[in-house]
Amino acid sequence: MSDCLFCNIVSGEVPSKSAGENELAFAFFDIAPVAPIHILIVPKKHIENINVFEIKEADSLSQMVKLSQELASEHNLTERGYRLVFNVGDDAGNTVSHLHMHLLGGRRLGWPPG
Ligand code: AMP
Ligand code: ZN
Repeated sequence: MSDCLFCNIVSGEVPSKSAGENELAFAFFDIAPVAPIHILIVPKKHIENINVFEIKEADSLSQMVKLSQELASEHNLTERGYRLVFNVGDDAGNTVSHLHMHLLGGRRLGWPPG
């Protein structure tokens, strides 16, 4: 087993509630949702965070975005709106060191975020 929680979720060694996947990206419901729809979309490949993201990994990011688009549609968020968020580093409250995008929707989201 990897020592990365989200690598272990992608491999199925740690259980999660799957929300969907494609060739390079995997999506699962957040264990502590902060909105009616709160899904995490991750690259299947381990990438630590946006700070170390490289252009050669662009296909992973592209498929994460594509999957988020499909999930927004599946959960009826396309028209009403939703938010895609990367938390990077301590000030943003980042806790897991495997790149992940939050898909948040199903309620009015405040701006600026806290
Ligand atoms: P971040 O603060 O951007 O690093 O977000 C990490 C997210 O991972 C948080 O929203 C957590 O609730 C979520 N999380 C942590 N462990 C799990 C897990 N085992 N399954 C699903 N979501 C998780
Ligand atoms: Zn990982």
